[in-house]
Amino acid sequence: MGRKPEFKATKSFTMGLRELAWLKEYSERRNEKASAIVNKLIREAMLEDVHTETERKLRGPIAYCTGCSKQREFEQVQHDDQVSWLCFECGEDKTEVVEYYIKQNERRRK
Ligand SMILES: [Zn+2]
Repeated sequence: MGRKPEFKATKSFTMGLRELAWLKEYSERRNEKASAIVNKLIREAMLEDVHTETERKLRGPIAYCTGCSKQREFEQVQHDDQVSWLCFECGEDKTEVVEYYIKQNERRRK
């Protein structure tokens, strides 16, 4: 019961012919299984995705800080029931401005 040395993706998703041709050539050249290569590529994309996601979460909104006279990153600070946005560098309160930006962004996304 020998397996045919056939080149195919057995799970049901579609790949472009050129991509499939490249994968075949690449896996032969590297002497690696196509599935291993695809898995590796997907894993890289997954890591990259997680990385961008955490970076996006860590980075606060950027707005002009009058205290620094520069574009600055703002961080969200919560005390009691109040949430304010403070300049990451000088701590200037820019809550109104940042919240305005955030609302505009949300509107643009809809
Ligand atoms: Zn500042």
